[in-house]
Amino acid sequence: MKKGKINVETQNIFPIIKQFLYSDHEIFLRELVSNAVDATQKMKTLKTVGELNSDISKLKVEVILNKKSKTLTIRDNGIGMTDKELDKYINQIAFSGAEEFVNKYKDADKKNSIIGHFGLGFYSAFMVAKEVEIITKSQLPNSIPVKWICDGSPNYTMEKVKKKTKGTDVILHIADDSLEFLEKERISSILNKYCKFLPVKIKFGEKKELIDDPKGKKDKEGNLEKIEKISDNIINNTNPTWKKRPSNLKEEHYKSFYKELYPMEFADPLFHIHLNVDFPFNLTGILYFPKLKNNLEVQKNKINLYSNQVFITDNVENIVPEFLTLLHGVIDSPEIPLNVSRSYLQADSNVKKISKHITKKVADKLNQMFKKDRNDFENKWDDIKTFIEYGMLTEQQFFQKASEFALYKNTENEYYTLSEFIEKIKDNQKNKDGKIIVLYSHNTQEQHSFVKTARDKGYQVLSLGGPLVSHLISRIESENTDIQFTRVDADIIDKLIEKDDTNISKLSNKEEEKIQKMIEEIVDKEKFTVKIQSMDSNESPIIITQSEYMRRMKEQQELSGSGGMQMFGLIPESYNLDVNANHELISILLVEKSKKKRNELINQLLDLALLSQGMLKGEKLTSFISRSVSLIK
Ligand code: ADP
Repeated sequence: MKKGKINVETQNIFPIIKQFLYSDHEIFLRELVSNAVDATQKMKTLKTVGELNSDISKLKVEVILNKKSKTLTIRDNGIGMTDKELDKYINQIAFSGAEEFVNKYKDADKKNSIIGHFGLGFYSAFMVAKEVEIITKSQLPNSIPVKWICDGSPNYTMEKVKKKTKGTDVILHIADDSLEFLEKERISSILNKYCKFLPVKIKFGEKKELIDDPKGKKDKEGNLEKIEKISDNIINNTNPTWKKRPSNLKEEHYKSFYKELYPMEFADPLFHIHLNVDFPFNLTGILYFPKLKNNLEVQKNKINLYSNQVFITDNVENIVPEFLTLLHGVIDSPEIPLNVSRSYLQADSNVKKISKHITKKVADKLNQMFKKDRNDFENKWDDIKTFIEYGMLTEQQFFQKASEFALYKNTENEYYTLSEFIEKIKDNQKNKDGKIIVLYSHNTQEQHSFVKTARDKGYQVLSLGGPLVSHLISRIESENTDIQFTRVDADIIDKLIEKDDTNISKLSNKEEEKIQKMIEEIVDKEKFTVKIQSMDSNESPIIITQSEYMRRMKEQQELSGSGGMQMFGLIPESYNLDVNANHELISILLVEKSKKKRNELINQLLDLALLSQGMLKGEKLTSFISRSVSLIK
């Protein structure tokens, strides 16, 4: 037996590790299983270069839980280690790596910023074990098996043992404060999280009582030899879909892989993008477009990041642009540095390249779908538009590319790209200053009367809904200065698109002033600005409009929450009350002698205007109804 002292400067780094990585103790299993997988992969490599004669078809890793002895064993039939190798790789390298790790992340701030704490390696076993044994036999001919034991202090022992098969057993004697790792469900869920797609078969079983081996020898009393019963439960898919060639895959393969990734997700994804890059960096993966629901926040971070099929994290912020975090799927790249802080990650040139590449791929795919089958793309549009608009707003590169396929739907449910739509309206909807006015409605049902007025005038109206619209159109306007978006209720129809031929008022200035006063006496002047307008006599007597500019400011303020604009205070709600000077009911106000009757008429017209804007509610609505009933009488 050889006794030794691990060569570390910090006297006892085990407690430090334990303390610092508290929240992430479970990763010990990922590290040890990864090591075991690597050991089997090295066998494959030896075989390919002709340095190995034995059969490699049965390579596997086993995770064996034994509640009775309070151990968890990670067993592989990989390359194993000689005593020299064990001394070098475990006593020296693994431990110095761990020490470096501790020194680097001693400070608690940095600790939280490490992704997945990858790279801690073998040493992480001591986060959960009070003693660790390694029993290993190298694949080299005539090698002597060795057993190494360390109890969590820098002292270890090493001795020769008996072991028939090549490979390594790492036996963890689980510490009393980590007994959760003796629960089958807990281990099962950790394996499912990190090891689901590892490239070698991973078996997980609980070691139960010894049972009779029917093929075994009998003892003197005629009893059968006992064997350990370990259930043969393979927990992983060694050849996940993203590693396969896209040309060998059909739509249904992608769909069933989606189900494999998200068993709780009921809806099928809309479509997918298979990423497969070799050069200048290595990246594979499949991204899915899910059916987005209204609350974007909760749907973020469903992309799983892998490194050579080992799960790392489902938080891909800073690795892909923010809007892409709405996608689902898998990204697998050994090029993404894993044990670095997030701020470092953002500056990393590989990460930048990867992020750019993914953005480009997504844009290319959308463009290709649009060109290949426009009809199908239009059918999908309502489901993907929030995603695309979000991308257009947050990524300049994507904004440019998306202008080729981003669609805008008009009130007749026809879809246009922006340039197609501008082409369609450029003659009829140009105002007297030469600007092309794009009319839109956020809700064609609620704004029906406004939409109808515009349609009757021969104008096209876009149906633009969703939380991002006011930001998006501001963005488009800043790129195209000859275009201006105006919502259908932003003004009276003649002023929405102001042309040279204006209506003439049939009222004199004096009469207009008189009417203005009558109305201002009744309405809330803080909220409504009364304007006497010369409109078509067939239009409504009173219309409520809201300036495009003010409304957009307010919407953007609401969307940004307590952000920037808040310092000016909340923008108050303000509307225009446009009174149609040419409507016969307005003229009646001038001849009606009874003030009571006049006010009744004004209130009725006002309520009708509120009603058509969806603004008549509560008590006001009730009194409107009873007033209407008595008017009919
Ligand atoms: P890393 O895996 O990052 O190199 P580790 O601390 O996990 O660092 O392991 C150190 C070294 O110990 C490995 O590089 C490998 O050579 C050796 N090793 C660890 N586990 C095994 C195993 N199960 N079989 C063979 N060699 C192993």
